[in-house]
Amino acid sequence: VAEVSVNLGVNSYTIHIGSGIIASIGQLMCKMELTNKVLIVSDDNVSKLYGDYVVNLLSQAGFTVELFSVAPGEDSKSMRVAMELYTRAIEMGLDRSSSIVALGGGVVGDLAGFVAATYLRGLSFVQIPTTLLAQVDSSVGGKVAVNHELGKNLIGAFYQPRLVVIDIDMLNTLPDRELYAGLSETIKYGIIADQTLFNYFIDNHQQILVKEPVVLTEIIRRCCEIKAQVVERDERESCVRMMLNFGHTIAHAIEASTGFSLYNHGEAVAIGMYGAALLSYQLGLCKKNVVDDISMIIEKFKLPLFAPECKVDTLLPYLERDKKTVGGKTKWVLVSSVGQVKINSDVPENIIRHILEQVTHKQKA
Ligand code: ADP
Ligand code: ZN
Repeated sequence: VAEVSVNLGVNSYTIHIGSGIIASIGQLMCKMELTNKVLIVSDDNVSKLYGDYVVNLLSQAGFTVELFSVAPGEDSKSMRVAMELYTRAIEMGLDRSSSIVALGGGVVGDLAGFVAATYLRGLSFVQIPTTLLAQVDSSVGGKVAVNHELGKNLIGAFYQPRLVVIDIDMLNTLPDRELYAGLSETIKYGIIADQTLFNYFIDNHQQILVKEPVVLTEIIRRCCEIKAQVVERDERESCVRMMLNFGHTIAHAIEASTGFSLYNHGEAVAIGMYGAALLSYQLGLCKKNVVDDISMIIEKFKLPLFAPECKVDTLLPYLERDKKTVGGKTKWVLVSSVGQVKINSDVPENIIRHILEQVTHKQKA
């Protein structure tokens, strides 16, 4: 069992990580003085596996519980589904002393968090992230949102959970592709902030792929800790937080230009991190071995380096449209050595073109 404290003044909370730790959810919520009613939000895949179990745990702890399950997938992150949740919340008489619990991956977390932030101007939000990606990414940062027809995550808020409970055992049912996608984001933390963590991935990659609980707990703990340190320095998105965007500039272009269907987020981030490493090398910021180490670990975790289906000219406009763009210049997060990143907003277009050519060609330069 591990704990990570996220220190944000009155909005501080603790992340509990461990094998089988979900069994103490009732106790943990009571300790936080979250009593009264609970609306659990989940998706059909996750609720089938864990819904009844979590409902029972909370009922036994004295809560009045209802479970609302949405269809799996990004389409559920909508105003329409949020509205259905408000209706259920009103019908069951949720008040400001009640809680909303997210039981699922990033989609469920974003949706449930958005409803928790807005229903009655905000009530207690508890997260039980069930994908590796959500465990290392959505547990810290307080970003909640739903999508708009014209773009993803456009309607949202910064809203901190009161409690996060990460049960490693829930990853046992996670499809491999989703596990690898989550690993992509964990590698990112090593590259941007922690060479020791990066080496830990190399030394333990076999144990990671078979979901060895002690190793997974350590990785998740460390990633949450790194993200917490970044977010503590910078609760609202700005400078420091920028580094979390490593690999994401190209990733967003790949995801968007392929209609969010060909690659999942983690896969796109893997290609984006490789691209960012190539760019760093091209600009003379890092040595070749940094690129080699990064591509090696990406491949060990069965993630892609290339997006051969994408075209340079289709990707470029998406880079310009990236929301982190300031004054028409894309802000690139670059790596100088593993554990160390730099921001550069002045990369010439011909160099970017050259990098995109490399990541859209299926061979190493
Ligand atoms: P992400 O966290 O990657 O944003 P989603 O919320 O879209 O992910 O979840 C990815 C998929 O994995 C969904 O189909 C979801 O139902 C499924 N899923 C989430 N957690 C688990 C789990 N622990 N076991 C099995 N399937 C899961
Ligand atoms: Zn990401």
